[in-house]
Amino acid sequence: MSYSIPRGTYDILPKDSYRWQALKAKFTELAKAFGYEEITTPIFEVSDLFERSSGESSDVVQKEMYRFTDKKGRSFALRPEGTAPVVRAYVEHNMASSGNNKLWYWGPMFRYDRPQAGRYRQFYQYGLEFIGSDNPYWDAELISFLWLFLSGLGLKHLRLELNSVGCPNCSQDYDNALRAYFQPHLESLCPDCQKRYETKPRRLLDCKVTTCKQIAGSAPSQLDYLDEPCRDHFAAAKSYLDKLSIPYTINPKIVRGLDYYTNTAFEIVYEGIGAQNSLAGGGRYNGLIEQIGGKPTPAIGFAGGIERLLIALENEGISLGESPGTDLYLIPMGEQARDFILPWINRWRMEGITIGFDPDKSSFKSQLKAANNSQARFAAIIGEDELAQESVMLKDMQSGEQSLIKLSELVSTLKTKLNH
Ligand code: AMP
Repeated sequence: MSYSIPRGTYDILPKDSYRWQALKAKFTELAKAFGYEEITTPIFEVSDLFERSSGESSDVVQKEMYRFTDKKGRSFALRPEGTAPVVRAYVEHNMASSGNNKLWYWGPMFRYDRPQAGRYRQFYQYGLEFIGSDNPYWDAELISFLWLFLSGLGLKHLRLELNSVGCPNCSQDYDNALRAYFQPHLESLCPDCQKRYETKPRRLLDCKVTTCKQIAGSAPSQLDYLDEPCRDHFAAAKSYLDKLSIPYTINPKIVRGLDYYTNTAFEIVYEGIGAQNSLAGGGRYNGLIEQIGGKPTPAIGFAGGIERLLIALENEGISLGESPGTDLYLIPMGEQARDFILPWINRWRMEGITIGFDPDKSSFKSQLKAANNSQARFAAIIGEDELAQESVMLKDMQSGEQSLIKLSELVSTLKTKLNH
């Protein structure tokens, strides 16, 4: 019997793990500099949380959610996105009172999507949520984080697209304008869009079907239907972005797939990775917290896909560094030397030295070969003489230089040589 991985998923093999770790370390560092704290929520939640927040008619809820029923008949879903769980946790733990309102997360999401390059059924997202203020400064600050994170990695072909999707007050007029525009084209629209026409006409702007896209090309712009407070909010967000020197282009077609967005909506597009070119997206969701049982609280957030980011980095030949190799390979000559060195091994590891050692190999030759294979920087040879002097013969595997080092001085010597 042999098994293969489920479609739309992938393994992160050891050779790739370092890139993931390096990326997460960079993200974490920047998040800390912006005053964000990590939050980790479960990978499944009651399905109603997503149905209510994303919207019953959204693609995520309609087609993409992995639902299951537990032994007591309760309906759960593997999380398709990270915002609703963070907001659920924010409300449940009354985080408003503790002031933890700048939150970041990183973890797997699940959507039953058609797999292709850059699109998976289990994929990882990093995200930020700022909860508690409607001040457009926060829109600009959060967007600037995303821009600095991605451009700071060295990516060049990035484009920040910005829109405002207004508030429930201005949506009504816009929905009416969209229905009036699409009405003569109804029969040419795809079956999904014919439904969207009734339920959420702005989703027509987001359809990937070529005919629908063509028709949507000349649809009215949301920006012409913003009420005054939304117009002012958008103008202020743009002006803060200008002050923070974050370049953007306006794209009135950005609607975002989920129902809970209000006002600022944005996406970072990367040119050169094919159809799945959205690296990250987000927006304001001023109504969501109240919708899921909290006090009315404005908020804004974004999520980015890690797989697509790695593809983009590879595309531009940007390396995230090499996995650090073995610092020291131990080569005891014979049983006595091995028993002598054993108590030291973990002590050195606890001091941060990466140590290779293999008791299955006994001859000098096979141990030296193993040291070479593990690309160790140094080897420590322990023969009879070294034993007698409580020392090792430290061999630089690059230069071949050797020197006798006391066991008690090995760590400090190595740290100096390795620049630890
Ligand atoms: P969304 O939550 O749909 O706004 O997506 C935010 C980001 O997550 C996108 O810009 C992508 O980078 C990434 N993403 C969304 N869906 C997938 C998927 N099925 N596979 C890989 N990445 C995805």
